[in-house]
Amino acid sequence: MHDIMGKVMARYVCARCGAPTEVLIKGLCPKCFSKVYGVAYIERRIRVEACRYCGRIRLGGKWTPANSFREAVVKIVEYNSAKLKPIEPLDSVRVGDIIFLTEPDWSTRVYIRLEGKYRGASIIGGEEVLIQLKPSICPLCKVRVSGEYDTVVTIHKAPDDIESILHEIIYKEGIQDQLVDVIWVKDRLNVYFTNKGAASKLIKGLKKKFKVRVGRLEHEDVGITRMGKRRTRKSINIEVLE
Ligand SMILES: [Zn+2]
Ligand SMILES: [Zn+2]
Repeated sequence: MHDIMGKVMARYVCARCGAPTEVLIKGLCPKCFSKVYGVAYIERRIRVEACRYCGRIRLGGKWTPANSFREAVVKIVEYNSAKLKPIEPLDSVRVGDIIFLTEPDWSTRVYIRLEGKYRGASIIGGEEVLIQLKPSICPLCKVRVSGEYDTVVTIHKAPDDIESILHEIIYKEGIQDQLVDVIWVKDRLNVYFTNKGAASKLIKGLKKKFKVRVGRLEHEDVGITRMGKRRTRKSINIEVLE
C-alpha cells in the first residue's frame, strides 16, 4: 500500500502511543510492547561463586577463569544468556551490549540490551541486572592454600596432547574421584591426587603410552594434623622421553 508520496504506509496503529506501525504485538507497536511487557524473562539478580584467590567463577558447576571483575561479569551474562526465554509471543531474543552502570566489582550493576524478534520485526529492550559475586575458594586454590592433596605427579616434557591422554587414563583406571586437580606450572604439568595409589595407577597408564623415566618418591613435611600426627605429602617426577 503506497500513499501519493510513494512512501510505504504503515498498516496498523498502536493502541498505546497511536503511532503507525507495520507490526502489532498484542495491539502495540514494538516500542510500546517492550515498555509494557519487556523482551525476555530475565533474572534481576544473579549470584555466582567466585574464588577470592584466583578469581575463577563457578558457572554451572564448572570453575571458569576470569582475569578481572569485568571479565567475570561478561562471562556470567553470556552464560545466563544461553538460557534466556523471550516474552510471549515473541519468537526469539538475544543479548546485545552489556552496559556497566557501576564499576565492575564483587557487586556490579549492569544494563543488558536485549533484542527480541517477532515475525521479522525487532523489539529492542533491556533490563538492569545486579551481578553479585560470592567470595569462595575453588578446588584448585584449596589445594594450593591448604595442601589438601596427598601425592603430586609432576610430568616433565609433557607432549601437547597430554591433557586428553591424562583424561583417558584417569577414566580407564577409575581414579577420577581421587584426582584433586591438574595444574600447569610453566612447562610442567602437576597432577594432584588424594592418595598415592591413584598416582601409581596414573604412572602405570603413562608407561603404556610413552617411554618415561620415573623419579624417586619424595616426602615433604607439611606440619602436624589435628590428631597430632605428622603429615607428609608425596611427590613423584616423571619425564617423558619419547
Ligand atoms: Zn506504541
Ligand atoms: Zn581459585
